[in-house]
Amino acid sequence: MTQSSIEQTAQEQTLNSIDPSNGEIVGSVTITNESALKAIVERAAKAQLSWGQRPLHERSSLIQQAYAALEDAEESLSLLISREMGKDTRRAGYEASGTLHGGRYLAAESAKAFASQRLAGNSEIQYRPLGTVAVISPWNYPLAMANNLIVPALVAGNSVILKPSEETPLVADLLVSILNETLPSGVLQIAHGGGEVGEALVKSDINMVAFTGSLQTGRNIMASAAPQLKRLVMELGGNDPMIVLDDADVFAAAQFAVASSFENAGQMCTSTERVYVDEKIAEQFEQAVVNIASQYKTGSWRDSQVNIGPLVNAKQHAKVVSHIQDALEKGATLLFGENKPLLPFIQPTVISNINPTMKIENEETFGPVVAIDRFGSVEDAINRANDSIYGLGAVVFGERDAKKVAQRLQAGMIGINQGVGAGGDAPWVGAKQSGFGYHGSIEGHRQFAQVTVINH
Ligand code: NAD
Repeated sequence: MTQSSIEQTAQEQTLNSIDPSNGEIVGSVTITNESALKAIVERAAKAQLSWGQRPLHERSSLIQQAYAALEDAEESLSLLISREMGKDTRRAGYEASGTLHGGRYLAAESAKAFASQRLAGNSEIQYRPLGTVAVISPWNYPLAMANNLIVPALVAGNSVILKPSEETPLVADLLVSILNETLPSGVLQIAHGGGEVGEALVKSDINMVAFTGSLQTGRNIMASAAPQLKRLVMELGGNDPMIVLDDADVFAAAQFAVASSFENAGQMCTSTERVYVDEKIAEQFEQAVVNIASQYKTGSWRDSQVNIGPLVNAKQHAKVVSHIQDALEKGATLLFGENKPLLPFIQPTVISNINPTMKIENEETFGPVVAIDRFGSVEDAINRANDSIYGLGAVVFGERDAKKVAQRLQAGMIGINQGVGAGGDAPWVGAKQSGFGYHGSIEGHRQFAQVTVINH
């Protein structure tokens, strides 16, 4: 068993969280049933009334205090991340400490977005709370992804109901319980379960859904939210391309291609999913990629040498294997790795000669695979990079024409000779079907508020 499982008794349903590296039960939570969800939603609405009335600076500083209190629990949070989703301890440690520091930073920064502004004449813009925000999060960065949405939602004066992924309920529970030692009761609550609990929450009496997860779930949520026109922020999947131009630093490009494709066992929304390399340097580039990939070690998070953990569950594993096999059946070449990896790991994999008919090129694979094809004309590379319903990130390596190529890539975040995602309080934003709304930056924070214009 490498997937969260559900147990039913007469009174309640229990969700077991499973360590994907060995199938052990890490712990369990009670699934939020219909009546419990109703009570949570009512409590959230009530708590929001007084929370939203508190001065902005008071909300911001209380949230900062709440995050500071995570310090003593950093190790427990980190361990739970590793145990529930398989991430190695170094990466889990970064995420836990990033949650503490990022939460405090975001609580201070986002407050700047919600201060009222005077307009010319006797008008004023206010940024009022929307009410209750449902934050629905994925398992791949179980704390970071929840945090990015919880903090601005709370600072804006909303109450929040977090529905964490069914794969990582325990770490979310610990986060919420520690924050609640400081926050007023009912302002931040948690609801547990799978997609059906998420759906019930979206359809309940809430005002906004801030979601991070797959495109298909994003579409389902938009449909469920449509009747009441609930406000939405959707951070969805990606199929990020990388273009390597003929004057690129081949070693640096190869290093990036491998690191970005393998990060978090490839389970990162902005991981490099497909690489288009100029045929003039392709031989050298592919060789460098294989050399670097061969230095990666796959295994359990308990092994300190490991930098590629297990896939989170059997479903994700089967998907990645099917993409590898589909590519090989359609004529791709396996340069490194196994053509039928066994559960729960996927060995570092390098595939060349991919083409647009293959799932590995036209879908999000979400596994530790570098998938490469060569191009003869830059125009073709740009067309293939843009030939996707997704548009989260895109990367180009090269010198002379790199900026011109970047200018033509269809993505919300673009890196030139580096990865995507700017530092500080920058927007995290997808183009096309990778996003609808976004978080980060003044404009991103303001999506958690009702803009109101008052003429005095
Ligand atoms: P998922 O869409 O399967 O699940 C995400 C969350 O949605 C879970 O909590 C799940 O229980 C809930 N859910 C499922 N169906 C629902 C419904 N009908 N209504 C409401 N909630 C529902 O995604 P996942 O497998 O957990 O995460 C991986 C995906 O997330 C990948 O596609 C990845 O690219 C994407 N992701 C995007 C970003 C970003 O910033 N753009 C960041 C991280 C992950």
